[in-house]
Amino acid sequence: MRPSRSILATASLVAIAATSPAHAQGDAKAAVSSTLDARFAHWRDVADSIWSFAELGYQERRSSALLQQELTAAGFEVKAGVAGIPTAFVATHGSGKPVIGVLAEFDALPGLSQAPVPERKPVVDRAPGHACGHHLFGTASTAAAVAVKEWMARTGAKGTLRVYGTPAEEGGGGKIYMVRAGLFDDVDVALDWHPGSENDAGPGSSLANKSGKFRFRGAAAHASASPWDGRSALDALEAMNHMVDMMREHVPDGTRIHYVITNGGAAPNIVPDFAEAYYYVRHPDARQVLAIWERIEKAAAGAAMGTETKVELEVVNGVHALLPNETLSRMIDANLRRVGGVKYTAEERDFATRLGTTLTGAPRDPAEAERVKAWARSDGGGSTDVGDVSWVVPNAGFSTATWVPGTPAHSWQAVAAGGMSIGHKGMLVAAKTMAMSVQDLFAQPALVRQARAEFTQKRGSGYTYRPLIGDRSPPLDYRVNPK
Ligand SMILES: [Zn+2]
Ligand SMILES: [Zn+2]
Repeated sequence: MRPSRSILATASLVAIAATSPAHAQGDAKAAVSSTLDARFAHWRDVADSIWSFAELGYQERRSSALLQQELTAAGFEVKAGVAGIPTAFVATHGSGKPVIGVLAEFDALPGLSQAPVPERKPVVDRAPGHACGHHLFGTASTAAAVAVKEWMARTGAKGTLRVYGTPAEEGGGGKIYMVRAGLFDDVDVALDWHPGSENDAGPGSSLANKSGKFRFRGAAAHASASPWDGRSALDALEAMNHMVDMMREHVPDGTRIHYVITNGGAAPNIVPDFAEAYYYVRHPDARQVLAIWERIEKAAAGAAMGTETKVELEVVNGVHALLPNETLSRMIDANLRRVGGVKYTAEERDFATRLGTTLTGAPRDPAEAERVKAWARSDGGGSTDVGDVSWVVPNAGFSTATWVPGTPAHSWQAVAAGGMSIGHKGMLVAAKTMAMSVQDLFAQPALVRQARAEFTQKRGSGYTYRPLIGDRSPPLDYRVNPK
């Protein structure tokens, strides 16, 4: 409960409110919020550094090191290289229950380098860029944790606060290996957030997803002088893709199958002895994903047989759909409303308007960034390895308007806004909302219990977590092409 305007206007009730725990918590939130305001320039610089490093999955050495350095300097105990991943870390403050975790991502996407300007202009052509805003994600989570740690030290609040530095969200599944290694086993609640084009704490699921690289090997030969001596790995790959494209008619509604050819041969005058396709299969239900994946493996085997080539598969990633927790997302929603959305200056409005003309969707009002969306369930079409976390510990996330309204993730427009003041402001909204939500969890044991009860009920009795990736080790080289 927070004192409303009308209560504050009544002198006698102010006196009561001043002594109530809710009022004390309101003060605590205001204090953490001003701590974050006071350090804004510092955290902005941290985010800008990670934005300019733009490191791909499992190669985020500088980005991870920078966040670790911030957490160490703030007094967290940092354990790096966890779960067999050099860039993964767990930073801990305090001891005992409850154990509250905050997730921090920091990987970039290939090919999306972009200057912070409202027209397409790569910083370095075809270089990586932060098109999913993970530089803001990692920095805001770290900033929030540091602010909450100071509040805990000041007030003697009990419990354990953890920051999970989770690499390679974009297809590398860092969190899956951290979950599998048991790093979340004693956690009571784990919160996350994500950059977006609106402020939204409504609950939502995502798609389960399995991905892998099919590698065909044939025999090279002169493509004109002796083509009969060759067996084309590219033919095999195209035959497989064709079979899968026909299969699309016969899969359950809601299925998504996408692929890219990561290697299709070296030159037209050589019969390709190697070809590789990188596949994704998604569906809201992980069991459907596994069933469709088996059929795709059959298409690959059939294609290899018919072309007298060989095929091998490396499963790269596999994530569960998000298990939403309404108890937690209602709590976050209240904090997000308290913080409020992102207000543009005249310059930022101009940037947003110009960038808006490059977007393909229906025109959106830049002022939408100021609003917080009505709390409602909405399921996204993407996938995230937060899904795996959400099946082992009660979890909820939210988004803030770090991008111009209408901007899709994984676009150059997201890189542009994420590298300038609009992204920074959205990050501050996220850091404050995250910090206040963690404060609520430390201050209200009943809230943690309620979130756990909902989690247990939704997961069903007898549930055992099984990763979709099986027993493979982290694909530390999945961004290094080709094999
Ligand atoms: Zn992404
Ligand atoms: Zn993302």
